[in-house]
Amino acid sequence: ERAVESGGGTCLYDETMHAAQLDRLSLETDLRHAIDAGDQLWVAYQPIVALPEGRLAGFEALVRWDHPTRGRLSPTVFIPIAEVTGLIVPLGRLVLHRACHQMVRWTAMREQGAEPLFMSVNLSARQLGDRDLLETVTEALAESGIDPAQVKLELTESAAMSHAGETIGLLWRLKALGLRLSIDDFGTGYSSLSYLHRFPVDSLKVDQSFVAAMCRSTEGRDMVRIIVDLAHMLKLDVIAEGIETAEDAKLLSDMACGFGQGYLFSAPLPPREAASWITSSEI
Ligand code: C2E
Ligand code: CA
Ligand code: CA
Ligand code: CA
Repeated sequence: ERAVESGGGTCLYDETMHAAQLDRLSLETDLRHAIDAGDQLWVAYQPIVALPEGRLAGFEALVRWDHPTRGRLSPTVFIPIAEVTGLIVPLGRLVLHRACHQMVRWTAMREQGAEPLFMSVNLSARQLGDRDLLETVTEALAESGIDPAQVKLELTESAAMSHAGETIGLLWRLKALGLRLSIDDFGTGYSSLSYLHRFPVDSLKVDQSFVAAMCRSTEGRDMVRIIVDLAHMLKLDVIAEGIETAEDAKLLSDMACGFGQGYLFSAPLPPREAASWITSSEI
């Protein structure tokens, strides 16, 4: 709403607001088109390794958008728009399908008897509220032929809590498909700990802000230790994200944190580059 009669300051403010809204709207239109066409969107894969050896254990699928005029856009720019508009539902479906197909191809490249790799895919709160989610996941599993045990869905605490009562039932039905669930960005939400043993989750991801705080203070280190110990007490796997230095990796290994992910090992990679991890990971 433009306030033309009010003072210049207000008008300027409204114009800025207006420009931001237009920008958002044009991105929304472009994203809708990109999802339909499919070719501007692609999935980057970040290796997740077992600590301390650094052996490849799986990948996290992270969506990328090569916008025709704006260039490569970060998901931190367009995922929030996708969530608000509901476009995250078809976008999430696209990522899940591609990630499952990719893992099937990579599994075929591995030696017989090699430890199966897992593929982590992010799920937002909005997707958990989608009545077709179970069907979408079932279809991606069946259509790709992936072993469901290789699929991990990452959801944040707030996403898990957002539809509290209904979500627990949904999570159990997803688990019944044979896949695994992980709590993403653990420790950054507002939820109580009580949900942890009620939710059928298999692993926790220590948020990168805690990993970053580790080298700054003993308090930071203690926080990570508490999360890792908590996970172990609940018999959950722990994955630390945002590992950038060998020092971080050493501290985490000493705490018996089982898995790590971060620039120290590898940035998220285009499929072709990620594949070189598959072929060089046999030990
Ligand atoms: P996230 O799920 O917490 O993913 C981890 C983010 O940390 C990724 O950012 C990754 O590139 C980045 N990262 C990895 N290693 C390091 C490191 O050593 N240091 C630092 N500083 N960062 C590191 P990215 O790819 O920009 O994704 C941002 C967020 O966008 C994700 O956070 C996730 O919440 C969301 N996202 C990305 N792809 C999808 C998707 O397919 N679906 C949904 N629902 N959300 C997605
Ligand atoms: Ca994640
Ligand atoms: Ca995370
Ligand atoms: Ca995050």
